[in-house]
Amino acid sequence: MDNQEITLYNDQDELVCPICGKKTHSLKRYKLKGLGFYLVLFSFYDHDVIACPECMRKAIRTVCLRYILRANVFFPLVLLINSAYYIAAGTKGHSNGLFYNSPYEF
Ligand SMILES: [Zn+2]
Repeated sequence: MDNQEITLYNDQDELVCPICGKKTHSLKRYKLKGLGFYLVLFSFYDHDVIACPECMRKAIRTVCLRYILRANVFFPLVLLINSAYYIAAGTKGHSNGLFYNSPYEF
């Protein structure tokens, strides 16, 4: 029972965005994906972001810009994956697991 997530909020609750401080009914938590490609080596990056839709879209743009050069010829992959989050950020409601700390995070 220790690892079971208990949801203590619903979409009617206004939650505060930790980035801009505004209250929102749609607080999102996504693991944005970064990719580095250095000749033969790949490295993958996760950016765990909790934010309101506007701040989340800013974070997605920042991550995409940051990895365009690093991902080299694979940059369309970074754009493709993160554009799915960009679209999802516009949906109503909070993300599940907003306050859940995965045991796999460092
Ligand atoms: Zn915000």
